[in-house]
Amino acid sequence: MPKTGRNDPCPCGSGKKYKHCCLEKDRAADLAPAIAQGVRLQAQQADHAAQRKEYEAALQQAQALDAASNAVVDLVHAGRLDEAEHAARELLVRYPEVHDGYDRLGMVHEARAQFRDAADCYRKVIEFTRANPEDYDAGFVDSFLERIVKLEACATEAERAVNDANRFG
Ligand SMILES: [Zn+2]
Repeated sequence: MPKTGRNDPCPCGSGKKYKHCCLEKDRAADLAPAIAQGVRLQAQQADHAAQRKEYEAALQQAQALDAASNAVVDLVHAGRLDEAEHAARELLVRYPEVHDGYDRLGMVHEARAQFRDAADCYRKVIEFTRANPEDYDAGFVDSFLERIVKLEACATEAERAVNDANRFG
C-alpha cells in the first residue's frame, strides 16, 4: 500500500487532509507493536531484577549463616566453649530450617567430652538430611553416622572408666 502524504486526502474518505484526520491515529497504530514490545521487555527486566534481588537475598542469608556457623567453629577451637554454645544455640533459633545449629552444638558437646549429647545433636543433623535429601550427598550422612558410632563408643568407654574408678578406687 503506498504511503499517504500528509497533505493528501485522508484514505478514510472524510474529505479532510490526512494530517488533520487519521495521521496521528495511524502513526499510533504503527507504533503500537513496538510500544507493546517495550512494555514486555520492561516487565521482563523487572522480573529479572526481582529474581536477582531474591537470589542476592538468599546468597546474603547463606553467607550470614556460613559466617555465624564458622564463628562457632572458631570459638570451639579457641576453647571458648560457653560462647560457642551460645552462638550454636543462636544458630538454631535464627536458622531453624537448616542442620547447622545442631552440627555446631554437637561440636561444642564433643569439645566438652559430652559424647552422648554430641551424638544426639548429630542424629538431629541426620534428621534434616532425611527431610531434604536433595540438599545432601550420601557421604554427608555417612560421616555423621560414623561420628555417632565413635561418640557412643567414647561414651561407653568413659562410663566404664568411671565405674572402674569407683569400684577399684
Ligand atoms: Zn481520516
